[in-house]
Amino acid sequence: MALPAAALLPTALPGPLPAPASSEQLEAISRDLLAAGLEPLRSAGELESLSADSFVYSPVLQPLLQGLRAQLGVRAATPEQVQQVAAACSRHGVSLTLRGAGTGNYGQCVPLAGGLVLELSGLNRLRALEPGSGVFTAEPGIVLAELDRQLQARGRELRLVPSTVRSASLGGYLAGGSSGIGSLRWGFLRDPGHLLGLELVTLEPTPRCLQLDAGAAQAINHAYGSNGIITAITMASAPALPWQQLVLEFEGWEQALAAAQQLPALALLLNALCLLEAPVAALMPWPQGCPPANGRGHRLLLLAAPDALPALQAWLPALQGQLLWQAPQGQSRGVALRELCWNHTTLHARSRDAGFTYLQLLLPQPEGPALAALRARWGDTVLWHLEGVRSQGQQRLACLPLLRWQGPELLQQLIDQARGLGCLLFNPHALTVEDGGLGAVDAQQVAAKAAYDPAGLLNPGKLRGWLERA
Ligand SMILES: Cc1cc2nc3c(=O)[nH]c(=O)nc-3n(C[C@H](O)[C@H](O)[C@H](O)COP(=O)(O)OP(=O)(O)OC[C@H]3O[C@@H](n4cnc5c(N)ncnc54)[C@H](O)[C@@H]3O)c2cc1C
Repeated sequence: MALPAAALLPTALPGPLPAPASSEQLEAISRDLLAAGLEPLRSAGELESLSADSFVYSPVLQPLLQGLRAQLGVRAATPEQVQQVAAACSRHGVSLTLRGAGTGNYGQCVPLAGGLVLELSGLNRLRALEPGSGVFTAEPGIVLAELDRQLQARGRELRLVPSTVRSASLGGYLAGGSSGIGSLRWGFLRDPGHLLGLELVTLEPTPRCLQLDAGAAQAINHAYGSNGIITAITMASAPALPWQQLVLEFEGWEQALAAAQQLPALALLLNALCLLEAPVAALMPWPQGCPPANGRGHRLLLLAAPDALPALQAWLPALQGQLLWQAPQGQSRGVALRELCWNHTTLHARSRDAGFTYLQLLLPQPEGPALAALRARWGDTVLWHLEGVRSQGQQRLACLPLLRWQGPELLQQLIDQARGLGCLLFNPHALTVEDGGLGAVDAQQVAAKAAYDPAGLLNPGKLRGWLERA
């Protein structure tokens, strides 16, 4: 049964939160950082930019997070420096929030209780790639596009990347992201099989640097940096392929939806499938050479292996679709297709009208009736953006509908109706790990926090299971 929506949209910060650090604590920790050869960052500008992410996409989170700042910042470039920062925080009882590139949408790296922010972009090496298996170990601060470039030079590629691949870090993606390009084939980052091990620094007076195997690492996966500091990540990769970017257009929504449902079932190798309803397509900046959207055609964006093209062209006329544009990934000009999908669709819509916000749902199967009911209820006040994903071994459609913000009531009504129709909600207007996911506390995440951050200093307020423990 669906939960009441009122419980889903926060109106206050989670708590209890620790008190901000006193000036004595800040002085003491600054001295320790300096003694370790690290520079404490104190300027208002630096603290502002180290404390924010893309939470403005949520008008629910925006008023709660606006203005929250770290009291001190620091950058580390080696696991040993991370240990020194962790020791100083533990010694002086100062809370610590970890930061990759700061592209999260839910305020994942916004410090709710002041304290210190540790920025990790200096830990950016690909440490190892095992040629036979493609298993790699890389440091968390490496930017995903750079990691992918280094893997591709050796015939491999990342299985999953967010649409922020050009800016987001590996550690931030693992701890704060969930899915993206590749999810059509490879599912979600938390699915067992992607993460094979972690190097983790604990937050204790004498921090340990632990090597966790795949099983133990899973509790740290998607925990918003609340239960350990990742200093290296071991993951599976995929053989690199020269993905082709394709834009298909359909006059009818039913045909476009049928194509999105049928394509993953064909014997084609696809890495991404994104369906944009005509009004959404009209808001996007299309790659050079791709005809601009006329507001009538629904567009299906694909990343396909080169051998998919002949079959696609033979199959398209049956659904009254046409191939509008194609170009190899990495060789087109203007915006790349992977920057028109997932939350980049929301980004482009917001750059045209900052009043847009969004939701994240997994549609029930069959998708048609639920989508038809939602479209009938909301007309053109909600615009539809779908993504093909693999969930628990099944090909499914997720959706990130766009709506203009008119207050929480309409958003709640949309959530209520969608959940009543059997949609699973991944709420982007939530502050805790659990509320941004399926709502349930993961006992292993909480146990990992007790083991690796016993004083509860890491990213306070973000793990609801820790706040609610007896
Ligand atoms: C336009 C746009 C599009 C997006 N598209 C996608 C998408 O396709 N798929 C998707 O999943 N997300 C997407 N996101 C959300 C975000 O980009 C991803 O979650 C991203 O991977 C975060 O990486 P980051 O380096 O910016 O992490 P940050 O925002 O810096 O951090 C994210 C979380 O990870 C924690 N963290 C960072 N480093 C460490 C570490 N070393 N150890 C432990 N914890 C750590 C932080 O404390 C924080 O809780 C999108 C966001 C935007 C704004």
